Amino acid sequence: MHKRLAIGLIALIAIAAIIGPIFAALSLARTRGLQDQRNEALRLATTVLARADGVAQEFFSAHDQLMRAGASNPCSEENMVLMRRLAFSSSHLRAIAYIANNRLVCSSIGPHADGVYIGLPDIVTPRGVAIRKSVKLPFAADYDVRISSMDGYAAIMAQDAALDIDTHVKGMLLSVFYTGFDLPIASNGSVNPAWLAQLKSGDSVSFLEGNYVVALHRSARYNLVGVAAVPVVYLTQNVRKLALFMVPLGAATAILLIAVLVYIARHQTTLQTMMRTALKRQEFSLVYQPVIDLHTGRWVAAEALIRWRRLNGEVIPPDVFIPEAERTGMITQITERVLSLVAHDISHHFKAFPDFAIGVNLSAADLENERTLSLLYRVIKVTGMAPHNLVVEATERGFINAEEARQMINDIRTLGIRVAIDDFGTGYSSLSYLTSMALDHLKIDKSFIDTIGKDAVASHVPGHIIAMARSLNLTVIAEGVETAEQADYLRERGVQFAQGWLFSRAVPAAELAQKLKSMASVIRKMDTL
Ligand code: C2E
Ligand code: CA
Ligand code: CA
Repeated sequence: MHKRLAIGLIALIAIAAIIGPIFAALSLARTRGLQDQRNEALRLATTVLARADGVAQEFFSAHDQLMRAGASNPCSEENMVLMRRLAFSSSHLRAIAYIANNRLVCSSIGPHADGVYIGLPDIVTPRGVAIRKSVKLPFAADYDVRISSMDGYAAIMAQDAALDIDTHVKGMLLSVFYTGFDLPIASNGSVNPAWLAQLKSGDSVSFLEGNYVVALHRSARYNLVGVAAVPVVYLTQNVRKLALFMVPLGAATAILLIAVLVYIARHQTTLQTMMRTALKRQEFSLVYQPVIDLHTGRWVAAEALIRWRRLNGEVIPPDVFIPEAERTGMITQITERVLSLVAHDISHHFKAFPDFAIGVNLSAADLENERTLSLLYRVIKVTGMAPHNLVVEATERGFINAEEARQMINDIRTLGIRVAIDDFGTGYSSLSYLTSMALDHLKIDKSFIDTIGKDAVASHVPGHIIAMARSLNLTVIAEGVETAEQADYLRERGVQFAQGWLFSRAVPAAELAQKLKSMASVIRKMDTL
């Protein structure tokens, strides 16, 4: 249950670790997109303004030249030639005209008889420029024109003279304002005059306003402001494009990760279910590794070691499943199975060898389980063995709950069953419980036997353990003896019993029985001699 929780937590963290950066990237993309769009809007506002400045400059220049010419009759043939020349040399102005009483009297196109009425100006600037935003002229009926005039001289231009700029941005608003007036003098849509307030005393500004990124730029030469507003749709489209790519990628990675975690979780629970099935299907068996007398070489005991061969032939080593069984609490069921297998395997050995012993490994949970005692007792009953024919091996890890373990050890020994401390020296607090607990044997761990004959400082440890065991009255059994040198060393220090591949690997029950039978016949032969 804890593991599931942990895996769930890890999955959550993993998802957060993946989705988090995606959102961060999207937010970054949005911020950058916004910045890009601000720059784009500013560029457009500046371009519009440059055009408007250009138009204004051509108008004032034409005006100045006509004023300088100072014609007494503005509509004289001579002055109209000048108007025509000025209109011709300008790039934004369609025509130059002379206006009197709101009537266009003559222009670069020609005289207009009684004059064409053009209406009152929309704006008259403090400098005296009258601006008519939209005028319909009879000789240019297709489109409205804008007319700016001063001292009677007027420039006729297309309404979008400043707005006709090249851009890939769709739906943008462009406008030119005369500062101080709320009306745009040119505009391709409805631009909010309130935006102008944002400019304050600066030269340019850009900001997000409703669905638009708005930019304003103030002219350095004229009282004009260029305005560009770019729809935000354009921005979100870019972010959406990125999200369309990033989010599925992130989701796929997250799903993959979760799948891996679920697989791991499943796999972990399957070992447990596999063990449960193994118990049902009798997949567990025992092998027996002899303990030999170092002086006579005779087999005096055997340690039962569990083996797991699955129906499909797969062998799972005890180092893999025993820790898992201990973790999940299944170990008590496994111990129960081991004890019943022992009872089945070796019931008839003890008539010929009344001192032969069988060792069984117990785990921490077994030492805390009341049932263990009755299971051990049942083995003795069923097999007819004497209690001292049974040895339980408990590791230091088994003494974690020291008080309960001590009680269980006492009860086991009260029954006459012997107790060995297994893997001695690999745990901690070895001495404290060794001196406070009644035990029979001490098994020196293989890792210490391995140091024998080596130069390592640790090679002194086996000697110390042997001396200590003797002072505590414990019989020493050396584990994992693989070389004759190790055996000699142990023999020299008075160790009587050993176990290891030097003497024998663990053997099946039938082989153990065979070995004991032949030993018995030799002894019988000796007795009759
Ligand atoms: P252990 O109780 O220390 O058992 C001794 C292990 O060392 C056995 O491995 C044995 O095959 C191996 N061994 C013996 N002599 C030598 C040697 O000379 N050289 C080397 N390299 N190895 C040697 P195994 O059978 O794989 O068991 C491993 C561990 O699994 C055992 O260590 C024990 O902790 C646990 N185990 C095995 N059977 C049982 C069981 O029935 N119940 C419980 N609770 N644990 C068991
Ligand atoms: Ca053992
Ligand atoms: Ca051991």
